This record gives sequence, C-alpha cells and structure tokens, in this order.
Amino acid sequence: MTASLAERLRAGIVLGAEGYVFELERRGYIKAGPFVPEVVLDYPDAVRELHREFLRAGAEVMVALTYYAHREKLRDVGREGDLEAMNRRAVRIAREVAREGAALVAGNVCNTWAYDPEDPATRDTVRAMYAEQLGWAAEEGVDFVISETNDYLGEALIALEVIQDLGLPAMVTLAPTQPHLTRDGYEYADACRILAAEGAQVVGLNCDRGPRTMVPLIARIRDTVECAVAIQPVPYRTDAIAPTMETLLSPKGERAFPIELDPFTCTRFDMAKFALQARELGVDYIGICCGAGPHHVRAMAEALGREVPASRYSPSMGLHPMFRADVSAKDAAFLPSWNG
Ligand SMILES: [Zn+2]
Repeated sequence: MTASLAERLRAGIVLGAEGYVFELERRGYIKAGPFVPEVVLDYPDAVRELHREFLRAGAEVMVALTYYAHREKLRDVGREGDLEAMNRRAVRIAREVAREGAALVAGNVCNTWAYDPEDPATRDTVRAMYAEQLGWAAEEGVDFVISETNDYLGEALIALEVIQDLGLPAMVTLAPTQPHLTRDGYEYADACRILAAEGAQVVGLNCDRGPRTMVPLIARIRDTVECAVAIQPVPYRTDAIAPTMETLLSPKGERAFPIELDPFTCTRFDMAKFALQARELGVDYIGICCGAGPHHVRAMAEALGREVPASRYSPSMGLHPMFRADVSAKDAAFLPSWNG
C-alpha cells in the first residue's frame, strides 16, 4: 500500500516536482500564451512520459495536469466542451504512472484569473470552477489536492473550502510575485497561518521566484506555522534586482518571461544546493515549479540522500574519455584546446 501524504510527511521530506506546462510547451505540446493543457487529450503519451521522467527522478507525487484546465481558460481556446474529459483524463494519466512507483496522486487547481476581491459575485464563480474540477478529480481518485500559484488569500481559501468539502487533504501554496504581500494585502506568512488555521495540511509558496529569492520568504513562514511547509521555486536565477521570473530581462532589455528564460536556468547543482537549504530550514515538502527538468529533480533527490531509478544513469565523469585519470596520450593532445 502507498503511504499517505501525512505518513510521508511524518517520516521525512516529501519530494515533489511540477512545471509540466513549461516543459510540455518546450516540447511542442502546449501553446505559450494561453498555456492550456490541451496535450492531455491531444497527446496523452507526452504527459505520461513526463510524469514517468519525474517519477524516475524521485518525485513522490504525480500532479494531475489540470493547471489552467478550468472553464474560463478553456473558453479562451474554444474547448469548453472538453473541460470534463480533460480533467478526468489528466487524473487518470497521473494515477497510471503513480502506480508504477508507489507515488501519490495530487489533484490540482490554480489561480483562476476570475477572482476579484472587490466583487463578491466572483467568489461564486471561482467556487463553481473549483467544485467542478475537483469533483471530477475526486471521482477519478486523488490522494490530496494542491491548490497553487494563489495570488489572493481569498481565492486560496475558496479552494481550501472546496477541497475540504470533498474530504481531501489540502496543500495550498501562494505565488510570491510581490515582495511581501498577497494581492489582497496579507503578509505571506500571515496568509499561510490563516490557511493552516482553516485546516490546510501543507502551506507555503510555489512558482515565480527562484531559490535565492524564495528561500528567505519560506524561512518566515516556517517560523510562523506549525503545520507542514512546502516550497516549490522555479529553477531560474532570480536575485535582488529581478526577484521573480517575470522581472528577469533578456540581454536586449526585454521581459524574458515566459519563453526566453533559458539563459537564467539553474543548473542541477544549484537545485541540489537549494534542496539542502530547504531541508536545513525545516521545510517538509520540497519541489520545483515552472522550468523544471528531470535532471533537476534527480539532483535534488540525490542531495537529500536518495537513490532513485534514474540514479542508474547519474554522471560518472571518471568514465569520460577526456576526464578519466588515464586519458590516452592521443586524446590528451586535445586538452590544451579544451582548457581554452
Ligand atoms: Zn510554476
């Protein structure tokens, strides 16, 4: 039997992996701009393969690709009629692959872009969107739900209510696009304290910030709440000048987000170091968001002392013809040019 989320959190760190939308966009299966996961119905094998790659790299949670698979977004791309099929299929695919490695399956909802704290009517719209998505997810069978990239505490609380109405454990994370406050004016740590008090099992941050600018914020949250804390940064080198991936600028001075971020990508070593920092801070759920590749996840898993299926192919540079101790005389002649 697969250990539950609560059991895993009691036993140690849970390693997560996300970033499905960005990675499948790079692979040519999702359109940048709308970022709707049409791939779930159009190329299910591509989704299955990426789940499997993250699983082999050590991810313990297969997150159903229902990010932006909500009514508002599907209407934008003229596929509102596919809403239910897309949501159900995404959970089924995640379940199929999770079974290959005793991983958990998470249902997934995100910010809807429909919420307006100044307009109470939007609360009902958002609730209805979450209720239909998560109702299908619950029927297909998920172990818990991740509500993520929340800009507003108010919208996150609606997701939490819907998740609890379904009797499922909730992990709720905020998108820290601003320096300290959610869009509805709560300090991130305060917002997390409120979510925990309302019954979220795991609270924290995901997306937008790279490790360097997200870790200080999660330290505050760790000090504030008693419950499990999650951190899932983007693997981009954000810093004090450009604290989020949206603020990073290309060499031409243009916004690099979302499809010109490649030069800022963290190496696997950066992400391994991040995983250790997060463990040191007492973070319970350590993952990665938009921009992630399986090599990042494997490096994080191995930094945490795990051997995972993909470790079979982890680097052995001592076997490289040019890096081995006994470089042949013929190949050693290349060394001056390799040394620049
Ligand atoms: Zn993300």
